[in-house]
Amino acid sequence: MKRYFLLLLSCFLLSCTSVKAPCTPYELTAKPPDYFVILDYGHGGFDCGAVGLDTGVKESDLNLLVGERVARALEDRGCFVLRTRTGTDALAGTKRDDMALRGAILCSEGADCTVSIHMNKFSDRSVKGPMCYFQAGSEGGKALAGCVIDALCAAIGQDPRFANPGNNFVTRIPSVPSVLIECGFLSNPEDERNLQDPDYQQTLADGIAEGVLHYLEQP
Ligand SMILES: [Zn+2]
Repeated sequence: MKRYFLLLLSCFLLSCTSVKAPCTPYELTAKPPDYFVILDYGHGGFDCGAVGLDTGVKESDLNLLVGERVARALEDRGCFVLRTRTGTDALAGTKRDDMALRGAILCSEGADCTVSIHMNKFSDRSVKGPMCYFQAGSEGGKALAGCVIDALCAAIGQDPRFANPGNNFVTRIPSVPSVLIECGFLSNPEDERNLQDPDYQQTLADGIAEGVLHYLEQP
């Protein structure tokens, strides 16, 4: 297994959307070798992220619940997982300091990929389903995000979608393939309900883990 240590990075945020042609879902056939995956659960503490319009559920809490399920799924398959947070608190007392620490962890040396877990919101309440973003210009990030969105859509029985290029702080990591996953829309009533259902959370987590492993097992 590869080793890791902490470095430093700086910050910003942006993104976009689209839809894609069908594809074949990936099936795991063998136990993978040890991989080093960094999982980032978005927001936390004073920064709760998006809020469910019907129930008031906090994105930060759902990111942790889904993220921990992803962590366990990857660990069960032999991966070494480093989390940016393990509880509901933020990493620091201000957004700036929180992001600086998050960036440092995401830049840990030896990581095979990084995965940030978030929940979405949008003014049009009919928009729903997961989306994946990679850093524009990153071939590794594009391949990783493509594998994850394919596996996610297959897992929840949704029409396939493209992964989207973007420019996000958590995907802007030199030389490490990174993906930002928006698991669903807290502005959509069906997604908001599903995202709080433990069975649905597990389905999402298994899809994310499968997509990540599919990417890592590619030659
Ligand atoms: Zn978020």
